[in-house]
Amino acid sequence: MSRETTRDDTTETAEWRNFLAATSSAIMPCVNGPEWTSDDQQQQRRAAALCNGCNALRECRAYAFAVQERHGVLGGLTEADRKRHRRQQRGAA
Ligand code: SF4
Repeated sequence: MSRETTRDDTTETAEWRNFLAATSSAIMPCVNGPEWTSDDQQQQRRAAALCNGCNALRECRAYAFAVQERHGVLGGLTEADRKRHRRQQRGAA
């Protein structure tokens, strides 16, 4: 991953371990990509689209939801996408 997470309690989760395993052999477009942490929505959309070419997408997305990561593009989802998803999940419960 090209950036630090905003959470510091990630190392013990299964999602984090799965993410690390998946990314050990993945070609990750986000490495050195400033779009993934940009505040510009257009750049975030571009980053999210590029995530579709990453073979760690599923694990990355699961990790982002598991730790409720609020910053940056992860697993093909922007911050707004994840926020919308969390809201929908709460509404469905
Ligand atoms: S899914 Fe996107 S953010 Fe996650 S590792 Fe792959 S390129 Fe990076």
